Amino acid sequence: MRSVSEHQQVVAGLITPRPAQTVPLAAAESLALAADVVAGLSLPGFDNSAMDGYAVLAADVVSASADDPVRLPVVEDIPAGRTDLLALAPHTAHRIMTGAPVPAGATAVVPVEATDGGTETVRIRASARPGQHIRRAGEDVTAGTTVMHAGQVVSPAALGLAAALGIGELTVRPRQRVLVMSTGTELIAPGAELKPGQIYESNAVMLAAAVREAGGVVTAAPMAEDDVDEFRAALQAHVGESDLIITTGGVSAGAYEVVKDALGGEVDFVKVAMQPGMPQGSGHIVVDGREVPIITLPGNPVSALVSFEVFVRPALRAAMDLPQPHRRRREAVLRESCTSPWGKRQFRRGVLDAEAGTVTSYGPPASHHLRWLASANCLLEIEEDVTEIEAGSTVAVWDLID
Ligand code: AMP
Ligand code: MG
Repeated sequence: MRSVSEHQQVVAGLITPRPAQTVPLAAAESLALAADVVAGLSLPGFDNSAMDGYAVLAADVVSASADDPVRLPVVEDIPAGRTDLLALAPHTAHRIMTGAPVPAGATAVVPVEATDGGTETVRIRASARPGQHIRRAGEDVTAGTTVMHAGQVVSPAALGLAAALGIGELTVRPRQRVLVMSTGTELIAPGAELKPGQIYESNAVMLAAAVREAGGVVTAAPMAEDDVDEFRAALQAHVGESDLIITTGGVSAGAYEVVKDALGGEVDFVKVAMQPGMPQGSGHIVVDGREVPIITLPGNPVSALVSFEVFVRPALRAAMDLPQPHRRRREAVLRESCTSPWGKRQFRRGVLDAEAGTVTSYGPPASHHLRWLASANCLLEIEEDVTEIEAGSTVAVWDLID
């Protein structure tokens, strides 16, 4: 049997990063930069007012006080967006708004609150420190500075900075495009009527969401019956430009294992020493004339999602240069004892109370108990050589929330 970490490495080696791409700002959101970003201009681009008030020479208002205001004629009105270049003559004031260009010669802005707000003449009731309430050109960014580095994830603020610098496109590591395919003749799309023996299909919507949560994009999420020709035809029809195919079901030891039957020559089907999620497969298949990596997950919904967490998510994120490819691993005190099969790494669903530092194992370990996984916030990771853990022991958990 292959170990969990061996299979993690195999899957990681399968998923290759896409070449860097230059995309419009909105499409770069949450992706990793593939190139440094250098400012082509300074921020602020020009000296501008930090307050609504009056641009003055500080020297003209040295004596101003509430009891003895200084009166100055207001010779210009400068709202934000005024584009003509102005100069302030001594012993005059310009009314000025926040963000408006400070006229040449002005050395301070007096806030409107320290004046009578006059439009013809203004009474100034406080003196001003030279430079007061003026945001200087280049104070934030000097043209030519590297403001963001390759590898950094494009956050909302990063998009804001790029836009402020007049940059309309960013060079990023593109999302992995993933085809998610469910197999099983018993599967019916949610909403349709069930015949005896049929069940609602639940892996496609679940794994598609998990792919997106990992930073990938889902190209399609169809289902196919347990028929080799139908399965291959569905792959052909849906592969499109996908960088990766993930299938569920049809890889165990029974008959009618469609994925195994169809891909036996191309995919390496293995047993991984873990619970749940023992039957796994990976490789490359030629579909629509193109070689595409494929990961075949087991069909039980819990096995499928746990396998995705353990093998696919870290590899997908690493291929997109996204941070924290692995879930944050924490230690917590187990609240009740539990057992684990010898020789297998067990991933139990759990509820972590991060503040108390405790974790409760949640639901039975068998792989069809999706109900518990749906409300769990962590996975307990129990090593291969551990068969019993006492309440009060410290265990490793994967935090699925943070
Ligand atoms: P398999 O790996 O195909 O043998 O499937 C194992 C178990 O998981 C069976 O009980 C299937 O009915 C169930 N299963 C497989 N695929 C899905 C799916 N997409 N949605 C819900 N249950 C599934
Ligand atoms: Mg099946």
